[in-house]
Amino acid sequence: MDTFGKLAFLGRQMLLEPAEEVESARRSSGVPAPCGHTPAELGRIFGGDPRRESVSLSETKKNSLGIHEAIMPGGKRIKLLKTLLTSACERDCYYCPFRAGRDFRRATFKPEEMAQAFAELKQRGIAEGLFLSSGIVGGGVRTQDRLIDTAAILRRKLDYRGYLHLKLMPGSERDQVLEAMTLADRVSVNLEAPNPDRLSRLAPKKIFLAELLQPLKWAAEIRRTMPPPYRGRWPSLVTQFVVGAAGESDVEILQTTAYLTAALGLGRVYFSAFHPVHDTPLENVPPENPWREHRLYQASFLLRDYGFQFEDLPFTADGRLPLDVDPKLGWARLNLRESPVEVNRAGREELLKVPGIGPRGADAILAARRVRALREVKQLRQLGIAAERAAPFITLDGRRPATQLALGL
Ligand code: SF4
Repeated sequence: MDTFGKLAFLGRQMLLEPAEEVESARRSSGVPAPCGHTPAELGRIFGGDPRRESVSLSETKKNSLGIHEAIMPGGKRIKLLKTLLTSACERDCYYCPFRAGRDFRRATFKPEEMAQAFAELKQRGIAEGLFLSSGIVGGGVRTQDRLIDTAAILRRKLDYRGYLHLKLMPGSERDQVLEAMTLADRVSVNLEAPNPDRLSRLAPKKIFLAELLQPLKWAAEIRRTMPPPYRGRWPSLVTQFVVGAAGESDVEILQTTAYLTAALGLGRVYFSAFHPVHDTPLENVPPENPWREHRLYQASFLLRDYGFQFEDLPFTADGRLPLDVDPKLGWARLNLRESPVEVNRAGREELLKVPGIGPRGADAILAARRVRALREVKQLRQLGIAAERAAPFITLDGRRPATQLALGL
């Protein structure tokens, strides 16, 4: 296969890796999009040889090459190339299409080849940012070196200044984490499971604390204690969990999410509803309901942006979030119906607990009520608040808004 043939091949294999584009797209549609691929489709995607050996650059707009629309922090949209240095791997994680011994064709790039290929795509306006991961060959440390070499060629030799998300491999060393952080805009380690016990059911050869959590801890410590080398900021940190293949509860997932957010300052935790892949040990495990993934995202945003504590989340007796209700609404029904929030006196944290009021809405209320009291629902609407959603849980100058009666909540 030539370079762009390999990129097109790998692009098809990267469909399951959540990156910057995935949840943003889901949230903008307001609907939890499933992974988008049935097990049968995944079998085709990961099953056999690519039909094409070679893809010319003139064809790249027809062939995705793994390019996805991505939404950056701040809202800018870019064309992100999501790819791997190699789809070969010596590990055998039970859920993974790239696991060792699985019979399908692999593709591998040298660092210079990958860097040059991306630079060409960038120069032609086909890709604007890069998400680079890899299967593990020769150990996590050697694999990390190749990822860093690729990033260094891009930054230092080819003078690439655009967006770069670099994966940290299991077992990478502290110096490598630091070097990756001087090159990337975002670094990530996929924890895959919320604790060592659950990880052992997905990837028995991965060591949760020493191989996966430790690089994230180093990255957090570097961000906390060292001045950023250039551009005035360190890269953001993110991770990913596979949801629904290890019998884990939402309590376990969100306990770890709360720790990662509060203690390590992770910018984002991604959740990937499990889909079985043909010819893996988990091929007969049923796919996870995509609504579970969506509820986990909602709960993680409550922990990160809305001042919710883990203990606030409305779990059911079996440790799950209810699938039929947004967790913020579930919490408010339990806690605010009898004790509504007075919009003219509540602090920012209290306002953020009200369904329909987000961080921007809370700030708008705080600013508006300095000028005059908020007495009518239409004033909330003018501030961009989802007033009908908020109405059952608030008072306006001591009075319940009239609209709540119509909702019957
Ligand atoms: S180490 Fe990564 S690429 Fe290799 S089998 Fe595990 S999840 Fe797949």
